[in-house]
This record gives sequence, C-alpha cells and structure tokens, in this order.
Amino acid sequence: MKCRKCGAEIKENEAMEAYGQTVCEDCYIDMAAKPKTCDPWAVYSAKNLKNTESSLTKMQSAIVDYLKKNGPTPPENLTEDLGLSMDEFEREMAPLRHMEKVRAQLREGKKVICLW
Ligand SMILES: [Zn+2]
Repeated sequence: MKCRKCGAEIKENEAMEAYGQTVCEDCYIDMAAKPKTCDPWAVYSAKNLKNTESSLTKMQSAIVDYLKKNGPTPPENLTEDLGLSMDEFEREMAPLRHMEKVRAQLREGKKVICLW
C-alpha cells in the first residue's frame, strides 16, 4: 500500500490512520505535529521521489552533518541554523526520509528531526 500523503511504499503493519487517510509514519508525525489539510509540497515530493538518487545535495549533506553533531533537533532550530525556510527544509527532507537518512520523531509531543 502507499502513503496517501507522500506516496511512499508502506508495509501493512506500518500504516497509520490520520484524518481518514492511510499514511506512513513520517507523514503521520508531520500531521500530528502540525495539522493542516492543504500541503503543496506533498505533490512535489511524490514527484521528486522518482528522481531520488543515492547522492545527496549540498544542503542534504549539511542537514545530515548537522544532526550528527547536534543530535535530534526541532525543525525550527535546524532551519534557523542552516538558514533555510520551512518550505525549503521540507523539500530537502522528503528525499532524505525516503533514503532512510533522516526522520522525524515526536518527543513529548514536539516534533524533532533526527538521524534514521
Ligand atoms: Zn508519507
């Protein structure tokens, strides 16, 4: 089955239900952390998936390096330190998630970004 939000392939036992849609764990966490109904970058990242290669962009490497140094970090701090807007950050994050480099987690109800 496929995540309704980002189009990622998900195993039956990993599927989560959010707002009546079947989504992967990452999207579920996103939706739980900041509920919103309209999400233009989901389309972008789904399209982008097909182009995903094992090589990282400069910014993606920077995100991975940052997390190696700093550990799990709330996205606001990460974007501030790397000089990214939240939209730019989400675009970099989508391929990183699907390459299983970086993921989002909920810690005490707050979203943090950490290494896979
Ligand atoms: Zn998803």
